[in-house]
Amino acid sequence: MIHRHDVIIIGAGLAGSRAAVEIGKVADVAVLSKVYPSRSHSGAAQGGVAASLGNISVTDRWEFHMFDTVKGSDYLGDQDAIELMVREAPETVIEMEHWGCPFSRTEEGKIAQRKFGGHTLEFGREAALRACYSADFTGHVLLHTLHEQCLKHNVNFYSEFQVLSLIFRDGRAIGVVAWDMVHGGLHTFYGRAVMFGTGGYGRAFKITSNAHANTGDGLALVSRIGLPIQDMEFVQFHPTGLYKSGILVTEGARGEGGHLKNSEGRRFMEDYAPTLMELAPRDMVARAMQQEIDEGRGIDGEDKIHLDVSHLGEQRLMERLPQITELAMNFAGVDPRVEPIPIQPTAHYSMGGIPANENTRVTMDANRTEAVGLYAAGECSCISVHGANRLGTNSLLEALLFGRRAGKQIVEDVHDLEFPNLPPDYEDAARGEIEFIRNNRGGEKVGTLRGELQDSMMIDCGVFRTKEQLQKQKEKVAELADRFRHIQIDDNGDQFNTDLLEAIELGHLLDFSGAIVEGALLREESRGGHYRKDFPKRDDDKFLRHTLAWKRNGDWELTFEKEVVLKGVSHPGFEPKERKY
Ligand SMILES: Cc1cc2nc3c(=O)[nH]c(=O)nc-3n(C[C@H](O)[C@H](O)[C@H](O)COP(=O)(O)OP(=O)(O)OC[C@H]3O[C@@H](n4cnc5c(N)ncnc54)[C@H](O)[C@@H]3O)c2cc1C
Repeated sequence: MIHRHDVIIIGAGLAGSRAAVEIGKVADVAVLSKVYPSRSHSGAAQGGVAASLGNISVTDRWEFHMFDTVKGSDYLGDQDAIELMVREAPETVIEMEHWGCPFSRTEEGKIAQRKFGGHTLEFGREAALRACYSADFTGHVLLHTLHEQCLKHNVNFYSEFQVLSLIFRDGRAIGVVAWDMVHGGLHTFYGRAVMFGTGGYGRAFKITSNAHANTGDGLALVSRIGLPIQDMEFVQFHPTGLYKSGILVTEGARGEGGHLKNSEGRRFMEDYAPTLMELAPRDMVARAMQQEIDEGRGIDGEDKIHLDVSHLGEQRLMERLPQITELAMNFAGVDPRVEPIPIQPTAHYSMGGIPANENTRVTMDANRTEAVGLYAAGECSCISVHGANRLGTNSLLEALLFGRRAGKQIVEDVHDLEFPNLPPDYEDAARGEIEFIRNNRGGEKVGTLRGELQDSMMIDCGVFRTKEQLQKQKEKVAELADRFRHIQIDDNGDQFNTDLLEAIELGHLLDFSGAIVEGALLREESRGGHYRKDFPKRDDDKFLRHTLAWKRNGDWELTFEKEVVLKGVSHPGFEPKERKY
């Protein structure tokens, strides 16, 4: 079946939904999502969304927010895009408030704000209260508010459609082909503009805070048609995942005053970041925890650390952190009101993604040449506001703000873009993939291959990396990709064939995991979320550059040609220098 709309958006998280609200006011827009829209991973976000409103830290300014974001990015963020994001942050959040988003409040009735790691006043002098929140359900309330706005503006939703391929010819996006998960069958959607808001790629790792749907589909689809993906080696490990399951315990728990302790009962962060302690940037806290574990100071000699919030008192926990109190009880069997929560680093956020500029137009090379009619925003994109490491609460902001920018840009562009013609082979790639998976009889199982990939990525391409580990992992990914050719699924039906869909997702995971590993191997330095034990220093001469990875003839080709935009504003702190906390 063929569907025609002015604009096709893939993804109904904050980025896709926010863009759709804007476009729905003036054009015919379709949003495709493989999960029901309000179940997108954005809804799981707990801690908050950053904006220098100054409701509590009254001296807060966008310049301080910019400084923190640039420094937090380990100077790999593009400073023009960062400036734009921090300047537009307050209006983006206030707009959500005006649409009815139920934020927590200060006593005077303003939006409440809390501390989050790496956010400071006066260029690092003291911690800032900048994260706007709604208890520990911030993503949930933002996503539902946007969904209501989408319904109001007549957005067409195609829920439970899994997009399999992007139709792209001569530098122009034409549409996508998707599988109808409920009834089976291929559907083609085409239009004047296509936008990706497909979220992150945490599911490449065994311990992750990410939803099952976060399999980096958008990245695989874009790289399969010959476009590059950017900075894939930068994966953020959040310090506080529940032990074994990886389920997130928000950084807000430390923002509210939670302590990290090793097996000696000591707040070990005083050895690593004596000023900011538990609220140092995530990459640093995750590494400190991993080092404590590696040196034998994990709790009970295991891969875990204690997060203690019991001193905050029951009332504050129930008021500010009700969700994590419940999660700790249900998934770790501990009561945080009276005992510490066992935690470990968990793959959380994907800094890498589809390269796009600050207008959210997808770019195709190191010179930032724009593709026509193709846009990306949110976690799947790499506009590079987070560089090598994202600060907490900056990604709900990114998704909302660049979703909004994408919407406005598409509204501006859409009537200049002619309706494209579908090429004769528009469905071939998707049909070929489905037929291969359904008919292949090799005996390899999806669950086995996925498990081996996630285990090995965690061990050999995780918080700490070395050349030997990465070489080994490169071979492992190649071996798994080879075994994938002999895959076999059991279910051959049409309706809710999760066997088929998981096989497709595994293909995506295997594709871009190669880019993560090769990027990590070639980047012989340590920066932000990427830490090489054999190259512990940052090397600005060689690597103050974005990585671009192209899939060519089955292999990844990588370059470091794309320069970082350094801007400087009016403070010397915007030039690369050592990070001390
Ligand atoms: C547990 C958790 C807590 C977090 N807490 C915070 C926080 O407090 N503050 C903060 O700033 N950030 C937080 N983050 C990060 C932040 O939530 C995300 O980066 C952001 O919400 C991503 O939004 P998005 O719109 O880009 O993608 P998502 O919300 O992940 O949505 C992706 C969409 O793409 C669709 N999709 C994907 N592939 C396909 C396909 N093949 N076909 C069709 N549809 C597809 C999905 O169905 C979904 O609708 C958190 C993340 C996690 C995992």
